[in-house]
Amino acid sequence: MSKHIRVRFAPSPTGPLHIGGVRTALYNYLFAKKHGGAFILRIEDTDQKRYVANAEKYIIEALNWAGIPFDEGIDKEGNFGPYRQSERRELYKKHITTLVENGWAYYAFDTPEELDAERKKHEAEGKTFSYNHLLRKELNNSISLFTEEVSRRLEKGDPYVIRFKIPQDEIVDLQDIIRGEMKIDTNTLDDKVLFKSDGLPTYHFANIVDDHEMKISHVIRGEEWLPSLALHVLLYKAFDWKAPEFAHLPLLLKPVGKGKLSKRDGDKLGFPVFPLEYTNEQTGEVARGYREDGYFPEAFINMLAFLGWNPGTEQEIFSLDELVKAFSLERVSKSGAKFDLDKTKWFQQQYMQQANAEGLAEEFQSIIASEVKQSFDTTYVKKVVSLIKERATFVSDFWNLGHYFFKTPSEYDAKASKKAWKEGTQDIMQNILVILQNTDDFSSENIENKVKAWIKESELGFGKVLMPLRLSLVGSMQGPHVFDIAALIGKEETISRINKAIAYFKTPS
Ligand code: GLU
Repeated sequence: MSKHIRVRFAPSPTGPLHIGGVRTALYNYLFAKKHGGAFILRIEDTDQKRYVANAEKYIIEALNWAGIPFDEGIDKEGNFGPYRQSERRELYKKHITTLVENGWAYYAFDTPEELDAERKKHEAEGKTFSYNHLLRKELNNSISLFTEEVSRRLEKGDPYVIRFKIPQDEIVDLQDIIRGEMKIDTNTLDDKVLFKSDGLPTYHFANIVDDHEMKISHVIRGEEWLPSLALHVLLYKAFDWKAPEFAHLPLLLKPVGKGKLSKRDGDKLGFPVFPLEYTNEQTGEVARGYREDGYFPEAFINMLAFLGWNPGTEQEIFSLDELVKAFSLERVSKSGAKFDLDKTKWFQQQYMQQANAEGLAEEFQSIIASEVKQSFDTTYVKKVVSLIKERATFVSDFWNLGHYFFKTPSEYDAKASKKAWKEGTQDIMQNILVILQNTDDFSSENIENKVKAWIKESELGFGKVLMPLRLSLVGSMQGPHVFDIAALIGKEETISRINKAIAYFKTPS
Protein backbone atom coordinates (compact mmCIF):
# COMPACT_ATOMS: atom_id res chain seq x y z
CA MET A 1 0.00 0.00 0.00
CA SER A 2 1.84 3.06 -1.16
CA LYS A 3 -0.35 6.02 -0.18
CA HIS A 4 -0.26 7.33 3.35
CA ILE A 5 -2.71 5.47 5.52
CA ARG A 6 -4.98 7.60 7.68
CA VAL A 7 -8.00 6.05 9.35
CA ARG A 8 -10.47 7.41 11.84
CA PHE A 9 -12.78 6.22 14.53
CA ALA A 10 -15.72 8.59 14.52
CA PRO A 11 -18.11 7.88 17.37
CA SER A 12 -21.08 10.04 18.23
CA PRO A 13 -21.00 10.99 21.91
CA THR A 14 -24.49 9.71 22.66
CA GLY A 15 -23.60 7.48 25.61
CA PRO A 16 -21.04 4.83 26.54
CA LEU A 17 -19.16 3.08 23.79
CA HIS A 18 -20.59 -0.34 22.98
CA ILE A 19 -18.08 -3.19 22.52
CA GLY A 20 -18.98 -3.16 18.81
CA GLY A 21 -17.64 0.39 18.75
CA VAL A 22 -14.45 -0.69 20.49
CA ARG A 23 -14.03 -3.41 17.87
CA THR A 24 -14.39 -0.81 15.09
CA ALA A 25 -11.75 1.31 16.85
CA LEU A 26 -9.52 -1.76 17.25
CA TYR A 27 -9.66 -2.73 13.57
CA ASN A 28 -8.90 0.87 12.61
CA TYR A 29 -5.99 0.89 15.04
CA LEU A 30 -4.60 -2.42 13.78
CA PHE A 31 -4.89 -1.35 10.16
CA ALA A 32 -3.19 1.99 10.84
CA LYS A 33 -0.32 0.44 12.80
CA LYS A 34 0.18 -2.33 10.30
CA HIS A 35 0.70 0.18 7.52
CA GLY A 36 2.58 2.78 9.53
CA GLY A 37 -0.38 5.13 9.29
CA ALA A 38 -2.29 7.37 11.66
CA PHE A 39 -5.30 6.49 13.81
CA ILE A 40 -7.55 9.47 14.36
CA LEU A 41 -10.36 10.04 16.84
CA ARG A 42 -13.07 12.33 15.56
CA ILE A 43 -16.06 13.18 17.71
CA GLU A 44 -19.23 13.40 15.64
CA ASP A 45 -21.33 15.61 17.85
CA THR A 46 -23.65 17.35 15.42
CA ASP A 47 -26.77 15.69 16.77
CA GLN A 48 -27.44 17.98 19.70
CA LYS A 49 -30.56 16.15 20.77
CA ARG A 50 -28.64 12.96 21.45
CA TYR A 51 -25.54 14.58 22.93
CA VAL A 52 -24.40 13.18 26.27
CA ALA A 53 -21.86 15.28 28.14
CA ASN A 54 -19.66 12.59 29.70
CA ALA A 55 -19.59 10.33 26.62
CA GLU A 56 -16.50 11.86 25.02
CA LYS A 57 -14.45 11.39 28.17
CA TYR A 58 -15.71 7.82 28.40
CA ILE A 59 -14.70 7.06 24.81
CA ILE A 60 -11.17 8.36 25.32
CA GLU A 61 -10.77 6.52 28.61
CA ALA A 62 -12.03 3.30 27.02
CA LEU A 63 -9.54 3.49 24.15
CA ASN A 64 -6.70 4.19 26.56
CA TRP A 65 -7.69 1.36 28.85
CA ALA A 66 -7.93 -1.04 25.91
CA GLY A 67 -4.40 -0.02 24.93
CA ILE A 68 -5.40 1.38 21.53
CA PRO A 69 -4.83 5.12 21.92
CA PHE A 70 -5.33 7.45 18.98
CA ASP A 71 -2.56 9.44 17.35
CA GLU A 72 -4.61 12.47 16.46
CA GLY A 73 -7.77 13.84 18.01
CA ILE A 74 -9.10 15.68 21.03
CA ASP A 75 -6.19 16.93 23.20
CA LYS A 76 -3.74 15.50 20.68
CA GLU A 77 -4.22 18.05 17.97
CA GLY A 78 -2.63 17.20 14.63
CA ASN A 79 -2.66 19.17 11.42
CA PHE A 80 -6.28 18.45 10.65
CA GLY A 81 -8.16 19.69 13.72
CA PRO A 82 -10.33 20.64 15.36
CA TYR A 83 -11.48 17.06 15.86
CA ARG A 84 -14.92 17.81 17.26
CA GLN A 85 -17.48 18.40 14.53
CA SER A 86 -19.26 21.05 16.57
CA GLU A 87 -16.08 23.13 16.23
CA ARG A 88 -16.00 22.84 12.45
CA ARG A 89 -19.24 24.60 11.54
CA GLU A 90 -17.67 27.22 9.28
CA LEU A 91 -16.08 24.55 7.17
CA TYR A 92 -19.38 22.77 6.61
CA LYS A 93 -21.08 26.04 5.73
CA LYS A 94 -18.43 26.79 3.14
CA HIS A 95 -18.80 23.39 1.53
CA ILE A 96 -22.58 23.29 1.57
CA THR A 97 -22.64 26.63 -0.22
CA THR A 98 -20.52 25.12 -2.97
CA LEU A 99 -22.94 22.23 -3.37
CA VAL A 100 -25.96 24.53 -3.55
CA GLU A 101 -24.23 26.75 -6.07
CA ASN A 102 -23.33 23.78 -8.23
CA GLY A 103 -26.90 22.58 -8.22
CA TRP A 104 -26.16 19.40 -6.24
CA ALA A 105 -28.13 20.54 -3.23
CA TYR A 106 -31.23 22.64 -2.67
CA TYR A 107 -33.18 24.47 0.02
CA ALA A 108 -36.31 22.77 1.26
CA PHE A 109 -38.84 24.76 3.26
CA ASP A 110 -41.35 22.01 4.01
CA THR A 111 -42.41 22.15 7.63
CA PRO A 112 -42.47 18.97 9.73
CA GLU A 113 -46.31 19.18 9.64
CA GLU A 114 -46.37 19.35 5.84
CA LEU A 115 -44.04 16.39 5.55
CA ASP A 116 -46.15 14.47 8.01
CA ALA A 117 -49.29 15.20 5.99
CA GLU A 118 -47.50 13.92 2.85
CA ARG A 119 -46.49 10.78 4.64
CA LYS A 120 -50.03 10.13 5.81
CA LYS A 121 -51.47 10.83 2.36
CA HIS A 122 -49.12 8.29 0.84
CA GLU A 123 -49.84 5.75 3.54
CA ALA A 124 -53.57 6.08 2.91
CA GLU A 125 -52.86 5.17 -0.70
CA GLY A 126 -50.74 2.22 0.37
CA LYS A 127 -47.50 3.94 -0.71
CA THR A 128 -44.37 5.04 1.08
CA PHE A 129 -43.45 8.68 1.01
CA SER A 130 -39.94 9.42 -0.17
CA TYR A 131 -38.51 12.88 -0.80
CA ASN A 132 -37.02 11.99 -4.18
CA HIS A 133 -36.77 12.82 -7.88
CA LEU A 134 -40.43 11.92 -8.41
CA LEU A 135 -41.81 14.16 -5.69
CA ARG A 136 -39.36 16.98 -5.18
CA LYS A 137 -41.06 19.12 -7.79
CA GLU A 138 -44.34 18.94 -5.88
CA LEU A 139 -42.86 20.02 -2.56
CA ASN A 140 -41.64 23.37 -1.18
CA ASN A 141 -38.06 23.78 -2.23
CA SER A 142 -35.71 25.80 -4.38
CA ILE A 143 -36.30 23.43 -7.29
CA SER A 144 -40.08 23.76 -7.32
CA LEU A 145 -40.39 27.41 -6.27
CA PHE A 146 -39.54 30.49 -8.32
CA THR A 147 -36.15 32.03 -7.63
CA GLU A 148 -37.74 35.21 -6.25
CA GLU A 149 -39.87 33.21 -3.86
CA VAL A 150 -36.83 31.30 -2.64
CA SER A 151 -34.90 34.55 -2.05
CA ARG A 152 -37.90 36.07 -0.28
CA ARG A 153 -38.20 33.10 2.05
CA LEU A 154 -34.49 33.03 2.78
CA GLU A 155 -34.46 36.76 3.51
CA LYS A 156 -37.48 36.46 5.73
CA GLY A 157 -35.65 33.80 7.70
CA ASP A 158 -38.06 30.96 7.00
CA PRO A 159 -36.64 27.76 8.47
CA TYR A 160 -35.18 25.43 5.88
CA VAL A 161 -33.05 22.35 5.46
CA ILE A 162 -30.65 21.66 2.63
CA ARG A 163 -31.20 18.44 0.73
CA PHE A 164 -28.98 16.53 -1.64
CA LYS A 165 -30.32 16.24 -5.17
CA ILE A 166 -29.87 12.60 -5.91
CA PRO A 167 -29.20 12.19 -9.64
CA GLN A 168 -31.86 10.34 -11.58
CA ASP A 169 -31.44 7.07 -13.51
CA GLU A 170 -27.88 6.34 -12.53
CA ILE A 171 -26.24 3.20 -11.30
CA VAL A 172 -23.66 3.87 -8.58
CA ASP A 173 -20.78 1.47 -8.44
CA LEU A 174 -19.72 0.76 -4.88
CA GLN A 175 -16.54 -1.00 -3.83
CA ASP A 176 -16.04 -2.39 -0.38
CA ILE A 177 -12.86 -4.17 0.71
CA ILE A 178 -14.83 -6.74 2.70
CA ARG A 179 -17.98 -7.04 0.62
CA GLY A 180 -16.66 -6.52 -2.88
CA GLU A 181 -18.67 -4.73 -5.53
CA MET A 182 -22.24 -3.51 -5.17
CA LYS A 183 -24.44 -1.58 -7.57
CA ILE A 184 -27.17 0.81 -6.47
CA ASP A 185 -29.84 2.37 -8.64
CA THR A 186 -30.08 6.05 -7.69
CA ASN A 187 -33.83 5.99 -8.26
CA THR A 188 -34.14 3.96 -5.05
CA LEU A 189 -32.52 6.73 -2.99
CA ASP A 190 -34.11 9.77 -1.40
CA ASP A 191 -32.87 13.35 -1.20
CA LYS A 192 -31.24 13.15 2.20
CA VAL A 193 -31.00 16.22 4.40
CA LEU A 194 -27.41 17.52 4.48
CA PHE A 195 -27.99 20.59 6.62
CA LYS A 196 -30.58 20.82 9.34
CA SER A 197 -32.73 23.79 10.27
CA ASP A 198 -30.52 24.33 13.34
CA GLY A 199 -27.68 25.27 11.01
CA LEU A 200 -25.71 22.11 11.71
CA PRO A 201 -24.79 19.50 9.15
CA THR A 202 -26.23 16.01 9.33
CA TYR A 203 -23.99 13.02 9.92
CA HIS A 204 -23.72 12.26 6.19
CA PHE A 205 -22.52 15.67 5.20
CA ALA A 206 -20.13 16.37 8.06
CA ASN A 207 -18.76 12.86 7.75
CA ILE A 208 -17.71 13.10 4.11
CA VAL A 209 -16.45 16.68 4.43
CA ASP A 210 -14.26 15.64 7.35
CA ASP A 211 -13.04 12.43 5.78
CA HIS A 212 -11.96 14.50 2.81
CA GLU A 213 -10.48 17.38 4.81
CA MET A 214 -8.68 15.03 7.21
CA LYS A 215 -7.26 13.08 4.26
CA ILE A 216 -8.75 9.81 5.42
CA SER A 217 -7.53 6.98 3.19
CA HIS A 218 -9.77 4.19 4.47
CA VAL A 219 -13.17 4.33 6.13
CA ILE A 220 -13.53 1.28 8.37
CA ARG A 221 -16.88 1.26 10.15
CA GLY A 222 -19.86 -0.85 11.13
CA GLU A 223 -22.16 -2.53 8.65
CA GLU A 224 -25.05 -0.33 9.76
CA TRP A 225 -23.53 2.40 7.58
CA LEU A 226 -23.53 0.31 4.40
CA PRO A 227 -26.93 1.64 3.27
CA SER A 228 -25.44 5.17 3.40
CA LEU A 229 -22.49 4.29 1.19
CA ALA A 230 -24.18 5.19 -2.12
CA LEU A 231 -25.08 8.63 -0.79
CA HIS A 232 -21.54 9.16 0.45
CA VAL A 233 -20.02 8.11 -2.86
CA LEU A 234 -22.41 10.46 -4.70
CA LEU A 235 -21.41 13.28 -2.38
CA TYR A 236 -17.73 12.75 -3.18
CA LYS A 237 -18.66 12.82 -6.84
CA ALA A 238 -20.65 16.03 -6.41
CA PHE A 239 -17.58 17.70 -4.89
CA ASP A 240 -15.30 16.08 -7.42
CA TRP A 241 -13.27 14.67 -4.52
CA LYS A 242 -11.57 11.31 -4.55
CA ALA A 243 -13.46 9.00 -2.20
CA PRO A 244 -11.55 6.98 0.42
CA GLU A 245 -11.66 3.21 0.31
CA PHE A 246 -14.40 1.60 2.38
CA ALA A 247 -14.61 -1.47 4.61
CA HIS A 248 -17.87 -2.25 6.41
CA LEU A 249 -17.43 -4.55 9.39
CA PRO A 250 -19.88 -7.35 10.20
CA LEU A 251 -22.41 -6.90 12.98
CA LEU A 252 -21.86 -8.22 16.47
CA LEU A 253 -24.68 -10.62 17.19
CA LYS A 254 -26.32 -11.82 20.38
CA PRO A 255 -24.88 -15.08 21.78
CA VAL A 256 -28.05 -16.99 20.95
CA GLY A 257 -30.25 -16.63 17.95
CA LYS A 258 -30.16 -13.78 15.56
CA GLY A 259 -30.09 -10.06 16.13
CA LYS A 260 -27.63 -7.33 16.80
CA LEU A 261 -26.01 -7.20 20.21
CA SER A 262 -27.56 -4.09 21.64
CA LYS A 263 -26.65 -1.74 24.45
CA ARG A 264 -29.51 -3.20 26.50
CA ASP A 265 -28.39 -6.82 26.12
CA GLY A 266 -25.71 -6.59 28.78
CA ASP A 267 -28.18 -6.33 31.61
CA LYS A 268 -30.49 -8.89 30.08
CA LEU A 269 -27.92 -11.54 29.22
CA GLY A 270 -25.61 -11.13 32.18
CA PHE A 271 -22.35 -9.92 30.67
CA PRO A 272 -20.96 -6.45 30.02
CA VAL A 273 -21.50 -4.84 26.62
CA PHE A 274 -19.38 -1.85 27.58
CA PRO A 275 -15.61 -1.68 28.04
CA LEU A 276 -15.88 0.40 31.23
CA GLU A 277 -18.59 0.68 33.82
CA TYR A 278 -20.97 3.48 32.95
CA THR A 279 -23.24 5.53 35.15
CA ASN A 280 -26.13 7.20 33.43
CA GLU A 281 -26.10 10.63 35.04
CA GLN A 282 -29.78 11.14 34.47
CA THR A 283 -31.17 7.88 35.78
CA GLY A 284 -28.30 6.86 38.05
CA GLU A 285 -28.36 3.45 36.34
CA VAL A 286 -25.02 1.67 36.33
CA ALA A 287 -24.01 -0.61 33.44
CA ARG A 288 -21.25 -3.17 33.91
CA GLY A 289 -17.87 -2.83 32.25
CA TYR A 290 -15.17 -5.34 31.27
CA ARG A 291 -12.60 -3.38 33.26
CA GLU A 292 -14.62 -3.47 36.46
CA ASP A 293 -15.57 -7.11 35.91
CA GLY A 294 -11.85 -7.85 36.15
CA TYR A 295 -10.92 -8.51 32.53
CA PHE A 296 -7.39 -7.65 31.48
CA PRO A 297 -7.36 -5.21 28.57
CA GLU A 298 -5.13 -7.61 26.58
CA ALA A 299 -7.68 -10.42 26.94
CA PHE A 300 -10.54 -8.11 26.05
CA ILE A 301 -8.77 -6.90 22.92
CA ASN A 302 -7.76 -10.40 21.87
CA MET A 303 -11.37 -11.57 22.24
CA LEU A 304 -12.72 -8.59 20.29
CA ALA A 305 -10.21 -9.06 17.48
CA PHE A 306 -11.66 -12.51 16.87
CA LEU A 307 -15.24 -11.26 16.65
CA GLY A 308 -15.29 -10.85 12.88
CA TRP A 309 -11.69 -11.63 11.96
CA ASN A 310 -9.45 -14.67 12.06
CA PRO A 311 -5.80 -15.13 11.19
CA GLY A 312 -6.39 -18.26 9.08
CA THR A 313 -4.24 -20.34 11.44
CA GLU A 314 -4.87 -22.22 14.68
CA GLN A 315 -3.30 -19.52 16.83
CA GLU A 316 -5.77 -17.77 19.12
CA ILE A 317 -3.65 -15.92 21.65
CA PHE A 318 -2.30 -12.75 20.12
CA SER A 319 -0.57 -9.83 21.76
CA LEU A 320 -1.47 -6.44 20.35
CA ASP A 321 1.80 -6.41 18.38
CA GLU A 322 1.04 -9.81 16.95
CA LEU A 323 -2.45 -8.66 16.01
CA VAL A 324 -0.96 -5.67 14.20
CA LYS A 325 1.26 -8.00 12.20
CA ALA A 326 -1.42 -10.57 11.43
CA PHE A 327 -4.37 -8.28 10.77
CA SER A 328 -5.80 -7.67 7.32
CA LEU A 329 -9.17 -6.36 6.20
CA GLU A 330 -9.31 -9.15 3.63
CA ARG A 331 -9.63 -11.66 6.47
CA VAL A 332 -12.59 -9.86 8.06
CA SER A 333 -15.72 -11.91 7.51
CA LYS A 334 -18.90 -10.73 5.81
CA SER A 335 -21.24 -12.52 8.15
CA GLY A 336 -22.17 -11.37 11.64
CA ALA A 337 -20.02 -12.44 14.58
CA LYS A 338 -21.76 -14.07 17.53
CA PHE A 339 -20.64 -12.90 20.94
CA ASP A 340 -19.57 -15.89 23.04
CA LEU A 341 -19.29 -15.42 26.82
CA ASP A 342 -17.48 -18.73 27.42
CA LYS A 343 -14.90 -17.86 24.82
CA THR A 344 -14.52 -14.42 26.34
CA LYS A 345 -13.80 -15.97 29.74
CA TRP A 346 -11.46 -18.46 28.11
CA PHE A 347 -9.36 -15.62 26.72
CA GLN A 348 -9.26 -14.03 30.16
CA GLN A 349 -8.18 -17.34 31.71
CA GLN A 350 -5.37 -17.71 29.20
CA TYR A 351 -4.09 -14.24 29.99
CA MET A 352 -4.40 -14.90 33.72
CA GLN A 353 -2.09 -17.89 33.35
CA GLN A 354 0.46 -15.78 31.50
CA ALA A 355 0.14 -12.79 33.80
CA ASN A 356 3.09 -11.72 35.85
CA ALA A 357 2.70 -12.75 39.52
CA GLU A 358 4.10 -9.42 40.74
CA GLY A 359 1.32 -7.33 39.18
CA LEU A 360 -1.33 -9.83 40.27
CA ALA A 361 0.03 -9.81 43.83
CA GLU A 362 -0.22 -6.05 43.92
CA GLU A 363 -3.88 -6.16 42.91
CA PHE A 364 -4.56 -8.99 45.31
CA GLN A 365 -3.01 -7.04 48.21
CA SER A 366 -5.90 -4.58 48.22
CA ILE A 367 -8.44 -7.42 48.39
CA ILE A 368 -6.50 -9.05 51.23
CA ALA A 369 -6.38 -5.74 53.07
CA SER A 370 -10.13 -5.43 52.86
CA GLU A 371 -10.65 -9.00 54.17
CA VAL A 372 -8.15 -9.17 57.03
CA LYS A 373 -6.50 -6.51 59.14
CA GLN A 374 -3.02 -7.98 58.87
CA SER A 375 -0.66 -7.06 56.06
CA PHE A 376 1.44 -9.60 54.17
CA ASP A 377 4.67 -9.08 52.35
CA THR A 378 4.69 -9.07 48.58
CA THR A 379 6.96 -12.09 48.24
CA TYR A 380 4.53 -14.17 50.27
CA VAL A 381 1.50 -12.93 48.31
CA LYS A 382 3.35 -13.58 45.06
CA LYS A 383 3.99 -17.19 46.09
CA VAL A 384 0.32 -17.63 46.98
CA VAL A 385 -0.67 -16.21 43.60
CA SER A 386 1.56 -18.65 41.73
CA LEU A 387 -0.05 -21.52 43.61
CA ILE A 388 -3.68 -20.54 43.06
CA LYS A 389 -3.88 -18.67 39.78
CA GLU A 390 -4.15 -21.85 37.74
CA ARG A 391 -7.78 -22.08 38.82
CA ALA A 392 -8.54 -18.40 38.61
CA THR A 393 -10.13 -16.38 35.82
CA PHE A 394 -10.13 -13.03 37.58
CA VAL A 395 -8.10 -11.51 40.40
CA SER A 396 -11.38 -11.35 42.28
CA ASP A 397 -11.36 -15.20 42.36
CA PHE A 398 -8.14 -15.19 44.38
CA TRP A 399 -9.72 -14.68 47.78
CA ASN A 400 -12.05 -17.65 47.42
CA LEU A 401 -9.22 -19.76 46.13
CA GLY A 402 -6.66 -18.75 48.71
CA HIS A 403 -8.18 -17.14 51.81
CA TYR A 404 -6.60 -19.82 54.03
CA PHE A 405 -3.14 -18.48 53.22
CA PHE A 406 -4.08 -15.37 55.14
CA LYS A 407 -6.56 -16.59 57.71
CA THR A 408 -6.59 -19.65 59.96
CA PRO A 409 -9.76 -21.61 59.18
CA SER A 410 -12.37 -20.86 61.80
CA GLU A 411 -14.79 -23.48 60.59
CA TYR A 412 -14.60 -26.73 58.70
CA ASP A 413 -16.74 -27.68 55.74
CA ALA A 414 -19.31 -30.21 57.03
CA LYS A 415 -19.21 -32.61 54.10
CA ALA A 416 -15.43 -32.56 53.95
CA SER A 417 -15.20 -33.09 57.71
CA LYS A 418 -17.40 -36.15 57.54
CA LYS A 419 -15.26 -37.64 54.84
CA ALA A 420 -11.86 -36.66 56.20
CA TRP A 421 -12.07 -36.83 59.98
CA LYS A 422 -12.94 -40.31 61.20
CA GLU A 423 -12.25 -42.42 64.19
CA GLY A 424 -8.51 -42.75 64.50
CA THR A 425 -7.79 -39.52 62.67
CA GLN A 426 -6.86 -37.80 65.87
CA ASP A 427 -4.06 -40.32 66.55
CA ILE A 428 -2.85 -40.06 63.00
CA MET A 429 -2.70 -36.28 63.24
CA GLN A 430 -0.84 -36.47 66.53
CA ASN A 431 1.81 -38.55 64.77
CA ILE A 432 1.96 -36.04 61.92
CA LEU A 433 2.42 -33.28 64.47
CA VAL A 434 5.45 -35.04 65.93
CA ILE A 435 6.97 -35.55 62.48
CA LEU A 436 6.45 -31.91 61.57
CA GLN A 437 7.76 -30.65 64.87
CA ASN A 438 10.95 -32.59 64.26
CA THR A 439 11.40 -31.26 60.76
CA ASP A 440 13.61 -28.21 60.44
CA ASP A 441 13.78 -27.97 56.69
CA PHE A 442 10.14 -27.07 56.08
CA SER A 443 10.29 -27.14 52.30
CA SER A 444 7.34 -28.70 50.54
CA GLU A 445 9.48 -31.50 49.20
CA ASN A 446 11.06 -32.36 52.52
CA ILE A 447 7.85 -32.48 54.54
CA GLU A 448 6.17 -34.46 51.79
CA ASN A 449 8.96 -37.04 51.86
CA LYS A 450 8.82 -37.35 55.61
CA VAL A 451 5.05 -37.60 55.90
CA LYS A 452 4.80 -40.06 53.01
CA ALA A 453 7.57 -42.22 54.43
CA TRP A 454 5.65 -42.43 57.69
CA ILE A 455 2.40 -43.26 55.83
CA LYS A 456 4.10 -46.14 54.05
CA GLU A 457 5.71 -47.36 57.21
CA SER A 458 2.41 -47.28 59.06
CA GLU A 459 0.70 -49.01 56.12
CA LEU A 460 -2.02 -46.39 55.96
CA GLY A 461 -3.81 -45.12 52.86
CA PHE A 462 -2.67 -41.68 51.71
CA GLY A 463 -6.19 -40.30 51.94
CA LYS A 464 -6.43 -41.14 55.62
CA VAL A 465 -3.62 -38.71 56.32
CA LEU A 466 -3.68 -36.19 53.53
CA MET A 467 -7.41 -35.46 53.75
CA PRO A 468 -7.45 -34.49 57.44
CA LEU A 469 -4.20 -32.63 56.94
CA ARG A 470 -5.80 -30.58 54.16
CA LEU A 471 -8.95 -30.08 56.21
CA SER A 472 -6.86 -28.75 59.09
CA LEU A 473 -4.92 -26.31 56.94
CA VAL A 474 -7.67 -25.17 54.57
CA GLY A 475 -10.99 -25.85 56.29
CA SER A 476 -12.25 -27.72 53.22
CA MET A 477 -10.98 -30.03 50.50
CA GLN A 478 -9.96 -27.22 48.13
CA GLY A 479 -6.56 -25.89 47.26
CA PRO A 480 -3.28 -26.79 45.61
CA HIS A 481 -0.81 -29.49 46.71
CA VAL A 482 -1.21 -29.78 50.50
CA PHE A 483 2.53 -29.76 51.22
CA ASP A 484 2.92 -26.57 49.17
CA ILE A 485 0.30 -25.00 51.43
CA ALA A 486 2.05 -26.19 54.60
CA ALA A 487 5.45 -25.01 53.41
CA LEU A 488 4.11 -21.59 52.51
CA ILE A 489 2.16 -20.91 55.69
CA GLY A 490 5.18 -22.24 57.59
CA LYS A 491 5.94 -24.69 60.36
CA GLU A 492 4.48 -22.75 63.24
CA GLU A 493 1.16 -22.00 61.54
CA THR A 494 0.87 -25.57 60.17
CA ILE A 495 1.34 -27.03 63.62
CA SER A 496 -1.05 -24.58 65.19
CA ARG A 497 -3.76 -25.35 62.62
CA ILE A 498 -3.42 -29.09 63.15
CA ASN A 499 -3.70 -28.58 66.90
CA LYS A 500 -6.75 -26.42 66.37
CA ALA A 501 -8.42 -29.09 64.22
CA ILE A 502 -7.61 -31.82 66.72
CA ALA A 503 -9.20 -29.76 69.48
CA TYR A 504 -12.21 -29.00 67.32
CA PHE A 505 -12.92 -32.60 66.28
CA LYS A 506 -12.16 -34.14 69.66
CA THR A 507 -15.18 -36.15 70.65
CA PRO A 508 -16.32 -34.94 74.03
CA SER A 509 -15.31 -37.48 76.65
N1 GLU B 1 -20.72 8.87 13.92
C1 GLU B 1 -20.92 7.62 13.29
C2 GLU B 1 -21.17 6.59 14.38
O1 GLU B 1 -21.50 6.93 15.45
C3 GLU B 1 -19.69 7.28 12.47
C4 GLU B 1 -19.93 6.38 11.32
C5 GLU B 1 -18.72 6.36 10.41
O2 GLU B 1 -17.68 5.86 10.85
O3 GLU B 1 -18.82 6.85 9.31
O4 GLU B 1 -21.07 5.43 14.23
